[in-house]
Amino acid sequence: MNAPLTLDARQRAMLAEMGVRVWQPKPPAPPPETARTAAVNAPEKIASFQDSTWDKTQKHSKNLPPDSTPQAAPPAAGPRPQDVALMDWPALQAAVAGCQACGLCAGRTHTVFGVGSRQAEWMVVGEAPGEQEDRQGQPFVGQAGKLLDRMLAAIGLTRADDADPAKKPAGVYIANVLKCRPPGNRNPQPEEIARCEPYLRRQVALLRPKIILALGRFAVQTLLQTTEPIGRLRGRVHLYEDVPVIVSYHPAYLLRALPEKAKAWEDLCLALATRENIEGV
Ligand code: SF4
Repeated sequence: MNAPLTLDARQRAMLAEMGVRVWQPKPPAPPPETARTAAVNAPEKIASFQDSTWDKTQKHSKNLPPDSTPQAAPPAAGPRPQDVALMDWPALQAAVAGCQACGLCAGRTHTVFGVGSRQAEWMVVGEAPGEQEDRQGQPFVGQAGKLLDRMLAAIGLTRADDADPAKKPAGVYIANVLKCRPPGNRNPQPEEIARCEPYLRRQVALLRPKIILALGRFAVQTLLQTTEPIGRLRGRVHLYEDVPVIVSYHPAYLLRALPEKAKAWEDLCLALATRENIEGV
């Protein structure tokens, strides 16, 4: 089991910067049997969530509508989803780098495959590259990326690719639903998401994270195959390919909506409590 969260002075200062109230966990309770009880037993900040349940009705792999599955959108010039599903990390990264399965390949400077430790137990899934990400080939850079890094640091995580999963800060792997930038940062289109999703699905299969933090509407709705807004999905543990998923707001949104940072901190606390209570599940 991971060590309980403790915040040092630097982390407290970072959270103060984020404008959130610092919450400290109680001493660890005996591990409950499932993550369902994890949410119930979490400290009062988390226990105050309404309807804190495993939402298996959102389970992605069982509820894909036929017209949105990758198989229903065969690639125009990219590997078949069934071939992607067999790739190792180098093959997958090479496939993304050369992918022309949707029109976004025409305007990209770089594909944005993912960053972080491939031994990480935590995975962050965002939406799509923006201008800076497209230039640098890295997810979550610029001001939103800095905020994400501060949020992750506050719970003892780092995107460093050589992070030791047994030490603090522990590693986190970060990837987007789309690997290429939509022009003008427009919203991703359903067909683009459908064509790109096999890559993300394979990243999850290779990484086998213990928990996924989904940030932003398109990431959340793609993973959970729902059209519900984030506000209605927060505070519950969902599943993607049997991996617990906690949903929260995109850091770029948090930069524009400062009061929502407190909610984002609550989401991180729920993720921590869930991760600590699913050990061995
Ligand atoms: S967004 Fe995804 S599917 Fe489209 S070209 Fe880029 S890698 Fe391929």
